[in-house]
Amino acid sequence: MHEHELIVIGGGPGGYVAAIRAAQLGMNVACIDENEQLGGTCLRVGCIPSKAMLESSELFHQANETFAEHGVKLKHVELDLAAMLRRKDKVVDTLTRGVKGLLKKNRVTHYQGRGRLDGATRVIVEKDGKTTQLTAPRVIIATGSRSASLRGIEVDGERIVTSTEALAFAEVPKHLVVIGGGYIGLELGSVWKRLGSKVTVLEALDRILALTDQEIAGKVHKVLEKQGIEFRLNCRVSSAKAKGKSVRIELEGGDPIECDRLLLAVGRVANTDNLGLETVGVKTDKRGVIEVDADFATSAQGVYAIGDCIPGPMLAHKASEEGVACVEKIAGRWAEVNYDSIPAVVYIHPEVAAVGKTEEQLKADGAEYKKGVFPFLANARAKTVGETEGMVKILADAKTDRILGVHIFGAGAGDLIHEAAAAMAFGATSEDLVHVCHAHPTLAEAVHEAALAVSGRVLHI
Ligand code: NAD
Repeated sequence: MHEHELIVIGGGPGGYVAAIRAAQLGMNVACIDENEQLGGTCLRVGCIPSKAMLESSELFHQANETFAEHGVKLKHVELDLAAMLRRKDKVVDTLTRGVKGLLKKNRVTHYQGRGRLDGATRVIVEKDGKTTQLTAPRVIIATGSRSASLRGIEVDGERIVTSTEALAFAEVPKHLVVIGGGYIGLELGSVWKRLGSKVTVLEALDRILALTDQEIAGKVHKVLEKQGIEFRLNCRVSSAKAKGKSVRIELEGGDPIECDRLLLAVGRVANTDNLGLETVGVKTDKRGVIEVDADFATSAQGVYAIGDCIPGPMLAHKASEEGVACVEKIAGRWAEVNYDSIPAVVYIHPEVAAVGKTEEQLKADGAEYKKGVFPFLANARAKTVGETEGMVKILADAKTDRILGVHIFGAGAGDLIHEAAAAMAFGATSEDLVHVCHAHPTLAEAVHEAALAVSGRVLHI
């Protein structure tokens, strides 16, 4: 029996960050993960490898399509997919090793294996049929999520795949069909489109990026269509079967589609089965999402949960914030996650980023708001880099001028959004942003101009 003060089940951005912070606060911490590579879905098969592939594929696309415009002529551009995949794996390897190093440096004990609760204060780690027993007065569940399945479709990991396999196709698919026009569908659809696949996205709703501000999502849809991605909205798949090298997809009320690879990207579900939750009485909803209070405490004494397996957006940075706040609270310190200013980014090109409420949410809440919009077409830096697509949109309270939501579609949106996130975290008004001097020429000036536009003082349109 190994005794600890805190056991964290899961070594993803929620779990490993919680473990490090707890160790910094003086606790004797164990962090359990079944994978040899630490860092969870995000580092191994999610955010990091997908961003590596997005970067590489965008460079390939630019070399083919936009370098000549800049007067850079390339005689022959060739794709070396194997090298691209090796580079991605190297990035993942370096970062996952980095996490291992961080745990070691902070004296967190890492146990490799599957962790499960076994009554109060006890956790069993299982690996290759062998078990290790750990005990601690407190346990944090940070087991994350996995790809959701669809009835009538069996993932075989070869022709019908999840995002994990779609990050490592050894050949460029001829025709990649993606079910789901969300984050994963658009990011991985973009990667393979740039590398030469025909890409068709099938989306059940009448729009893509369901939770994104509708005006922005509409523009994203048009731009991606212009990039050659085909969309079928209001499209319901009834089944899909792989046969040899092809996949046949049956649609409700439409002709079947044939492709050589099918990617299932219809959301993710919490990883909470076979965790022994019943041995301590941890309550979940019917989708397996763990119920927690404001201190991340579950219904079982001493058991906490954070990240993708509790309610809220399934984002790595949300999980990390919760991990830190959870252990700070356990240590009796003040901590709070500011859920109103969590940014979200879709890493397509150009990027889509948002913080706060969408215009639809404000309308549904009956809120009175003002709106300021500025297109990148009118931004000098955007012209110089040749990235004039998209816009910045700021929504502010009609009476108090407090910023309620900021939505950016354009080059560098994923970085630009943090000015807005910081402003919102400090309770800023659009007028506060107006009074921040923005360097010229930068893309950030579009944020400044959108803030000016809220009060009808825009300068460059
Ligand atoms: P998502 O929730 O973003 O999108 C899923 C889409 O699939 C939705 O538009 C939904 O309407 C559609 N859908 C559901 N059932 C369908 C069906 N039967 N037929 C057709 N369409 C259907 O989910 P995702 O893209 O799978 O991503 C999963 C999670 O991972 C998300 O919650 C996201 O937050 C996270 N993620 C984040 C990033 C990022 O931060 N850049 C990147 C990838 C994934």
